[in-house]
Amino acid sequence: MNYKFRSTCLSCKKKKLKKIIDLGNHSFADRFIPKKKLNLKDPKYPLILDLCTHCKFIQSRTITNPKNRYIEVDYSYTSSNSIYAKNHWTELANDLEKRIDLKNKKIIEIGSNDGFLSHLLKKKGAKVLGLDASDFMVKISKKKINAIHCIFSNKESKKIKKKFGQADIIIANNVLNHSDKPLDFLKGIYNLLKKDALFIFEQPNFTIGLLSLKFTTNMFLILLQETLNLY
Ligand SMILES: [Zn+2]
Repeated sequence: MNYKFRSTCLSCKKKKLKKIIDLGNHSFADRFIPKKKLNLKDPKYPLILDLCTHCKFIQSRTITNPKNRYIEVDYSYTSSNSIYAKNHWTELANDLEKRIDLKNKKIIEIGSNDGFLSHLLKKKGAKVLGLDASDFMVKISKKKINAIHCIFSNKESKKIKKKFGQADIIIANNVLNHSDKPLDFLKGIYNLLKKDALFIFEQPNFTIGLLSLKFTTNMFLILLQETLNLY
């Protein structure tokens, strides 16, 4: 199988991981197998969530290769796939414009996807560069914005710095949580930001997710008990 299990915490590196959810085997989210590849088996991976009892960081146990997720099959999720999503990104862009004069500001969006948000910021006068792990999404976004295909890391940040320079604002919505090397990812952000610059990111919140009751009642009670046991 093309995966490994994590044994040390992604954040504090201690071997203090405790399983809190096991949902069995699942294939990657946000992708559909195209007709021409239907003969290939869609790989499944154990969907297990661990909590670090030392630093309380919650993380997935299975380490997969990002190339298998983002490049093997065209990524299907788009930033502009619903009215709700479009309104959310429009609100973010308008809010940012109220706080900062965006004219000629250098903005890098990591996980720029189909370019929806970056394009809004470009229309407000910013100089934008989109980065995305999916080549397919980069091709779509290139119709509207300047974009590069890359799986973001500290190493990649050095190449981007040479080409684009440092940014006034870096945006990464629902991206850092996909990284298997979050500390290296943050080093890359630091390397690409100007002094007194802004890093804007969105992350899923475990507690809000738990309280949203999207899990069955039984699962909710197990999770609640497991979580309370840890404190
Ligand atoms: Zn930890």
